[in-house]
Amino acid sequence: MRLHWHRTDLRPSDNLALVTGDDPILPIYVFDPRVLTHAAPPRVAFVRESLATLREWYRARESDLLIVRGEAPAELPRLADEYDAGTVSWAQAYSGLGRRRDDRVADRLAADGVDHRIVDDHLLHEPGSITTNDGDPYAVYSYFWKKWRDREKASSVAAPGADRLVDPGVETPIPTLDDLGFDDPEATIPPGGYETARHRLNEFCSGPIYDYGSARDRPAADATSRLSPHLTHGTVGVRTVHDRVVRAREEAPDEDAREAVETFRGELAWREFYHHVLYFDPQVVTENYRDYENDIEWRTDPAELRAWKDGETGYPIVDAGMRQLREEAYMHNRVRMIVASFLTKDLLIDWREGYDWFRRKLVDHNPANDNGGWQWAASTGTDAQPYFRIFNPMTQGERHDPDAEYIRKYVPELRGVDPDLIHDWHELSPTQRRRTAPEYPAPVVDHSERRERALAMFERARGEH
Ligand code: FAD
Repeated sequence: MRLHWHRTDLRPSDNLALVTGDDPILPIYVFDPRVLTHAAPPRVAFVRESLATLREWYRARESDLLIVRGEAPAELPRLADEYDAGTVSWAQAYSGLGRRRDDRVADRLAADGVDHRIVDDHLLHEPGSITTNDGDPYAVYSYFWKKWRDREKASSVAAPGADRLVDPGVETPIPTLDDLGFDDPEATIPPGGYETARHRLNEFCSGPIYDYGSARDRPAADATSRLSPHLTHGTVGVRTVHDRVVRAREEAPDEDAREAVETFRGELAWREFYHHVLYFDPQVVTENYRDYENDIEWRTDPAELRAWKDGETGYPIVDAGMRQLREEAYMHNRVRMIVASFLTKDLLIDWREGYDWFRRKLVDHNPANDNGGWQWAASTGTDAQPYFRIFNPMTQGERHDPDAEYIRKYVPELRGVDPDLIHDWHELSPTQRRRTAPEYPAPVVDHSERRERALAMFERARGEH
């Protein structure tokens, strides 16, 4: 018998470990207090809901998901002994922390004579499979993409048959957030579970994907897939996503639509690119990818950091994004780029502060993508935004949210205000601002002045090498 340890693969189908071999499988999930120290209420809430639907799937097949609490390196050998399992399987982890924990589990199992099986499951192409001609991991996305794009991909696999599944013989409850030491999330969390993921994927690929190329940068259009929590927690398999996307490409009504599908595939490739970066350079979660940026003298300014977190900077698109994050545990990609640029290039505050806030607030946080996004915006990462190309938050707002629809949705103080005044907010006099939207703050910083300081800050750090 084998125990399958579900982690970020909270789905029954397109789950390679569940169809590998022909041994009977007992599925388990471990709430590990050491892992939970890096978790946050939105993600724990999403995971709980996803576990409930996964458990229903197993129960309908006379099995059940065994849910335990405790440190994985102790719990897994204990369960293997209790159920007389000869093997424990799990899907490959990518972060340094996850891999170190898995090594500890493997060692403890081996000491008890239990085998382990690690299955590559979370990516279409695993780290090490797409490299430069010299065999090194790519640091430039466009080269990575060319190989990724053309490489043949595995298709999704069906769920295991009921005859493979074992009934643990006990019912184990899903602990509440409170039991796990978390408050209720402040935000409204999107529904979890593998069925929701499948529904969302089909919905997106039946139409919206064809406008993805032109609409994905317009936050008000809400034209992206919203699959990120599902890909992060594995309520959908990436092979399933890719198969469906390829089908959409085959059914595309015209060349533009086909190109839009390719643009979407490019985002799946970014996800894999950043997972490879994390795998080969696990220290990126706390260190700059490029060490010549280590001398950047980031500012410490608790009041400005607070204004950023609270969505009170007086830069409407930044504030709308930060408030979307607070309300939905999610933020549109274009706006993530804008708020990250604002924190690092306008407030001149270390990207690690922003990463930490996102880690606490996002339902889709995973270290690979989150860190990749932050280090891109901060110009410290692989294939990052060049340090001298600094987003102007007002121009970005005007270009990507011209009617201020997104801004007015999340910033009620500006709801009745004309979009032109919103986009000119930084240029209005104090009296005009008071008359226009008395509750909305004046800009906390002057963008032009901060832009010059940011350039000087980067040049100073680079000049020292
Ligand atoms: P879609 O546009 O529909 O894209 C489909 C999928 O492709 C996404 O679900 C995601 O898995 C992947 N993807 C899309 N854009 C990117 C990207 N730029 N980098 C890597 N993968 C991408 N994404 C996360 O999944 N988790 C994070 O914690 C995260 N943090 C970010 C932080 C910053 C500062 C930035 C700039 C980006 C971050 N992203 C993160 C990437 C991106 O913003 C989200 O994946 C995207 O907004 C999710 O919405 P969606 O599923 O509708 O995306």
